[in-house]
Order: sequence, then structure tokens, then C-alpha cells
Amino acid sequence: MSFFGLSESVFRFGSFALIFAIMALAETLYPKRERRFSRTVRWTTNFGILLTDYVAVFVFTFIGMVTAVGAAAYAEHMGWGLLNLVEWPAWIEWLIAIVVLDFVIWAQHVATHKVPILWRLHRVHHSDEDIDASTAIRFHPIEILFSVLVKSAAVLLLGPAAGAVVVFEAFVNGSALFNHANVRLPRWADTILRSVFVTPDMHRVHHSAINRETDSNYGFGLSIWDRLFRTYISQPQKGHTGMTIGLEEWQGDGPSTYPWAISFPFRDPPHTKAGDQPQ
Ligand SMILES: [Zn+2]
Repeated sequence: MSFFGLSESVFRFGSFALIFAIMALAETLYPKRERRFSRTVRWTTNFGILLTDYVAVFVFTFIGMVTAVGAAAYAEHMGWGLLNLVEWPAWIEWLIAIVVLDFVIWAQHVATHKVPILWRLHRVHHSDEDIDASTAIRFHPIEILFSVLVKSAAVLLLGPAAGAVVVFEAFVNGSALFNHANVRLPRWADTILRSVFVTPDMHRVHHSAINRETDSNYGFGLSIWDRLFRTYISQPQKGHTGMTIGLEEWQGDGPSTYPWAISFPFRDPPHTKAGDQPQ
């Protein structure tokens, strides 16, 4: 497969590196919030997690041979999935694929907040006490593998073209780098963009330490699902510069370090130490 004359892997890595670099520069020039931790400390941790994710996915792909793109090729070969049963114009099928997969990612994100065992994994992402583009890559490797399985299952049912899956993944990853970025957008730009896409001001609400705000704005790509399912909160209660980012029970130096973050799913909250009876 080639995209704009580039191989699939060059397209994936190139679009990630380019968007990350643009966001990092924008955060330097137009920062929204003051940092609590240095970039060096947090980027080392968050890129360390990304590297662990790459290794986990590489091993998993090698053993399990499951990827969302591979699932698309398999579904086409077997004639599985809704879009393999119809003969619609390619652009309509690609659009449907991108919108439906974005909804699947939204629903999966809601599940990672509501199902306790999934929340243990997902809270690694939420434990970041600053939010910037590097927060977008801070996902525990087990959550990444879970996500590969969910996406692959959705692809088998939907039957999109393999190319549409690659473009969807580039879109959702690029969107995550953008909406986690610590950038100040003019209000008019935020208003126009968030009518369709998730903006940094919209997603920052989801990283609030206040539970009611964490349980809102689950979207990664399109902003429509939160409006549709009434999980939309437009601004944080304490304002973007006054709000606390991260998890209320886990404020401190720990979350900014790699060993803490990678082992976090296996740790209990501070007030339920061994021997304590749940209240
Ligand atoms: Zn979340």
C-alpha cells in the first residue's frame, strides 16, 4: 500500500513525527498552562511508554498476527463485513469507515472508564499531571493491545478497505496529538473546530482531577459523539489555567516517572493499603 507516494510505515511514522513536532513548537510559542514538570522528565517517561508499546505490538503481531489493517485484508478476502457486501462509491465507504471507527474508539474509551479492570490500565494515561502532546502517547501497553483487538473486531464486522483503516489510524493519532497539546487557540478557531473535531480546550476538561469532568468529553477524533450521548462539558469549572490535571488521589512526583507509570495498573489507591478494610 502507498500513501502520497510513501510506504505505509513511512506514512504512519512520518505523519506522527510531523504532527508531534508542530504541536511541540506550538506549545513553546503559545502555551496554555504553566508546566508543573519539565518536558525532559515527562517526555522521557511518555516516550519510554511509547517504546514499550511498540515492542508489545511488535511481539503481539508476530505471535498473534492481529492488526486492524490485517483484519481489513482478511475481511475482504473472506467477504466479511457490511462494506464488503455493498458496491458503494469508494469515498462514501471510506467516510463511513472513518466515522464508524471513530465511534468505536469513543465507545471503547467510555468502557475504559466504566469497567474497573480497564480503568486500571487507562488511568496510566490520566495520571499525567501536565497535559501536552506527549500525553497522547502515554497509554499502557496492555491497553494498546486491548485496543488492537477491539479495532480488529470492529473491522471484521464493518469490512472497510485496508487503506481506510490506515488513514483512520493516522487521523485519530494525529487528532490525539493535537487535542492533548498545551496550546492556546484563539476562541473563534476553537469554536469553529469543535463543532466537528475535538479541540485541546475540549479534551483538557476530560483530564481534570474532578470526577464529573473526567466523565465527559470522551472523543478523540470527532466531537459529535459526546454531544449526541450527552457527555459533553464545554469548559472546566475552575478554568483552563486554574484546573488540576491528573488523578486527585495520585498527585506528586510518582506519575512523572517511567517505573511508576508502567506499574500503576497493579497498584491500589493510597487509602486501601494491605490490611485495610474497605469502608
Ligand atoms: Zn480517558
